[in-house]
Amino acid sequence: MSTTTPRLEIRNITRAFDGRRVVDDVSFKVMPGQVTCLLGPSGCGKSTTLRVIAGVDMQDTGEIYIDGKLICDTVFRVPPERRSVGLMFQDFALFPHLSVAENVAFGLSGSRAEKRARVEELLRRVDLGRYIDDYPHQLSGGEQQRVALARALAPRPKIMLMDEPFSGLDNRLRDEIRDETLRVLKEEGAAVLLVTHEPDEAMRMADEIALMRRGRIVQQGAPYNLYNAPVDRAAAAFFSDIN
Ligand code: ADP
Ligand code: MG
Repeated sequence: MSTTTPRLEIRNITRAFDGRRVVDDVSFKVMPGQVTCLLGPSGCGKSTTLRVIAGVDMQDTGEIYIDGKLICDTVFRVPPERRSVGLMFQDFALFPHLSVAENVAFGLSGSRAEKRARVEELLRRVDLGRYIDDYPHQLSGGEQQRVALARALAPRPKIMLMDEPFSGLDNRLRDEIRDETLRVLKEEGAAVLLVTHEPDEAMRMADEIALMRRGRIVQQGAPYNLYNAPVDRAAAAFFSDIN
């Protein structure tokens, strides 16, 4: 039997606010090198789940494992900065007073030469090598997004947590940036948990989709399985407006 340890596994996570369970017994895995999408309508509990995994919020019950190691249960808790997670949110602000190179190097340790090599490698990867000494305001929105991706990937996080990172981009750019981001994530071999409320984004980017509704995972599997065999009418309706 071949067994691969999940890069990330959460088991039976619940989180309630004012007695209301907004995350209700959620379990899923993200395998190495794969993109798992947590997909569901606004308010279903996606961001809360992500914040618990990042360690900026705390679950009421359940466990989180990274590479098979327990990082958080209800009594034991590794702090956020030691979880080896990369974060990308919709408002991915770069540091305006730092150059592109300094932004990407921000979370890196090591010698100057090592840091410079990693920064150059990543900027090449996102095709922005020529902007290495420029400042964020000199770049377009799409270019800034790619710098933010390079910055998040620089310390080689074990898992990238991305919360609707493309929703601030205009339609014209979005598909292109999604594809570009996916290519870079795959080249880096990153494991990704991508939160989105857009079924077409999940279909485009995911290896695996966990469909969430009112705090619960209602279906999980490969994108075409969810698309072709939705678990119920609501899931079918949710996927029906993909073009
Ligand atoms: P999603 O990211 O899927 O849109 P969220 O995880 O942000 O959903 O929110 C899920 C539900 O939990 C929402 O009803 C939201 O209002 C509520 N919620 C989120 N954070 C808090 C909080 N800190 N205090 C009270 N309610 C919250
Ligand atoms: Mg959200």
